[in-house]
Amino acid sequence: MSVFKTEAITLGRTDYSNSSQIITFYTRDYGKIHTIAKGFKRVSGRYSSKAIDLLTYYQILFIKKEYTSLHTLTEAVLQNNYPMLRNNLDNYYKASCMAELVNEFTEESDPSKQLFDIFLNTLNVISADTNATIQLLTFEMKMLKILGYLPELESCVNCKDSIQQVSEVHFNAREGGLLCKTCKVRFSNGIIVPLGAALIARRLVDINLQKLERVRIQSSICVEIEKMLRYYITSILNKELNSWKYIKF
Ligand SMILES: [Zn+2]
Repeated sequence: MSVFKTEAITLGRTDYSNSSQIITFYTRDYGKIHTIAKGFKRVSGRYSSKAIDLLTYYQILFIKKEYTSLHTLTEAVLQNNYPMLRNNLDNYYKASCMAELVNEFTEESDPSKQLFDIFLNTLNVISADTNATIQLLTFEMKMLKILGYLPELESCVNCKDSIQQVSEVHFNAREGGLLCKTCKVRFSNGIIVPLGAALIARRLVDINLQKLERVRIQSSICVEIEKMLRYYITSILNKELNSWKYIKF
């Protein structure tokens, strides 16, 4: 039995019994973990298991068990619960979407400090109500890259030729990106995407987060990028995300 300390963001929470809950965190040092929070009462006013909220940033201590993936949460010190986010439903659902993505796309105990930092940074910015749509799209593109799912948006995913300057291109989720005019006839399914939206989505992958607050993208382009990402993510996960039902673009 060893005790571990790490930074953590709450991804999910389910009741386990009358006095305990299972809390899923994305942690900076240990990746996604499931912990059981056994009804510990408010001790110092700084934390209590009952007060463990979703989409909240904590410093946690947990005991790692050897033969189970359900660890024991012993302390959760609140760092930021983003009060402004709770007053803005639209942004709250965008933040929920990030948590759902991290939960669905990551494996247990497979950490990425880079993903944790981008998640935390974007949560901070979205909670301050800045450019939430562009922040979410950027998070999605960066997450796909970090986790090895980045779609090919610069050249044809099949023949590797550069995509001609046309107004619309073919995007095929199963192939993992854009298809040129010649190749698109060989693959069924897929969607049509404006080339401009695909190119802007690609630029978001490497954009500096500090500069992102000043970036403006037409809302019609944001809608096209999100449509493309939803189609692509649905194809990878084999399901749609719950939070999508509530997000307005
Ligand atoms: Zn091609």
